[in-house]
Amino acid sequence: MDHFLYRDGVLYAEDVRVADIATQVGTPFYCYSTATLARHYKLFDDALEGTDHLVCFAMKSNSNQAVIKVLGDLGAGMDVVSGGEYLRARAAGIPGSRIVFSGVGKTREEMKMALEGGIRQFNVESEPEMFALNEVALSLGVIAPIAVRVNPDVDAKTHAKIATGKSENKFGIPISRAVQVYAMAAGMQGLDAIGIDVHIGSQLTELEPFETAYQKVAELTKTLRAEGHDIRRLDLGGGLGIPYERSNSAPPLPVEYGALIKRTLGDLGCEIEIEPGRLISGNAGILVSKVIYLKEGEDRKFLILDAAMNDLIRPSMYDAYHDIIPVAEPVPGLETTRYDIVGPVCESGDTFAKGRHLPPITEGDLVAFRSAGAYGAVMSSEYNSRPLIPEVLVKGDQFAVIRARPSFEEMINRDNIPAWL
Ligand SMILES: *Cc1c(COP(=O)(O)O)cnc(C)c1O
Repeated sequence: MDHFLYRDGVLYAEDVRVADIATQVGTPFYCYSTATLARHYKLFDDALEGTDHLVCFAMKSNSNQAVIKVLGDLGAGMDVVSGGEYLRARAAGIPGSRIVFSGVGKTREEMKMALEGGIRQFNVESEPEMFALNEVALSLGVIAPIAVRVNPDVDAKTHAKIATGKSENKFGIPISRAVQVYAMAAGMQGLDAIGIDVHIGSQLTELEPFETAYQKVAELTKTLRAEGHDIRRLDLGGGLGIPYERSNSAPPLPVEYGALIKRTLGDLGCEIEIEPGRLISGNAGILVSKVIYLKEGEDRKFLILDAAMNDLIRPSMYDAYHDIIPVAEPVPGLETTRYDIVGPVCESGDTFAKGRHLPPITEGDLVAFRSAGAYGAVMSSEYNSRPLIPEVLVKGDQFAVIRARPSFEEMINRDNIPAWL
């Protein structure tokens, strides 16, 4: 459920007419709903009720500081994957004690930044990283709390680019070597191995891969405790999928996911962390764009929008499906037409949808891409010298630009022409 609904024949974001935002801000733009963000965070928080837990929002899905602050104010922690994300979280007022540092290639500079600024835990992904973190911690005279990310060799049954839990993926240490690696960690003065971390992929639409992975984590917890390690926290990653295609069967609900966690890991007495990104921010955002041209091709019709792959790369990068709907509510029963929906960028990869049925639509009309709040704005670029598009946050009947569109001048002046040229 989200808060982008038709009312009186037009699309609203909460209590704001989407077309009114377009008039003030210009197209294309991203628009997020505070109520949807809060609702999704609470679904996870409630799903884990009765356990000691922290829901850490995976900031890589949407790292706008206003979005982070909405969630942080509700008590959310953050899962960060770079020094930049760490600093953004801190700038949005998230305390270090609620920030988990994930990622396969943390640099020593990033480790130092987090250790000095305050951090809940590092999710360590390899032995070389463990050695480096130990050295950095010792040089600062502190002890780094760590969870070792284990790779359970589980097929997440998702798109290959976002599957992370198979042995051929670059993530984590093989779960079969965990005993050895924890023994090594125990010998390092700068580290305190407090937990286990696992994250098997993104946009999972079944619970079974989670169940297999979490059962392995439960077993490992017992094994490591028997070896004398004080395992007291389990970070179970993110990855629960969302229904991009409304006609398809819906992925499991957070409450079912929470029940699975309690069933597989609830009796271990560990603090539970989860790191959902997409399920919190995905349906909390739309991308609004304007039709520039209707172009009749030889054997198909093209709808050319003012948004492009540089603004939303998911369709070209992951073959992702997004619902694309007119901002003016279509009259029921009207005949639809098949369109290839494309952007203006100079490559054929700049295609949002092929053969998509839409009700009558004309140049100048507004359309909205649903479920664009995750991995949308954060993955955008200025390819083709198209300035980054603005982000807008709605709350009730108010809205604010939370990242402004840079002017052409600002974009161009980022380049420097050397004096000797
Ligand atoms: C990407 C990622 C997440 C979030 O995944 P979603 O599918 O957005 O929930 C969580 N944890 C880690 C380590 C990740 O890399």
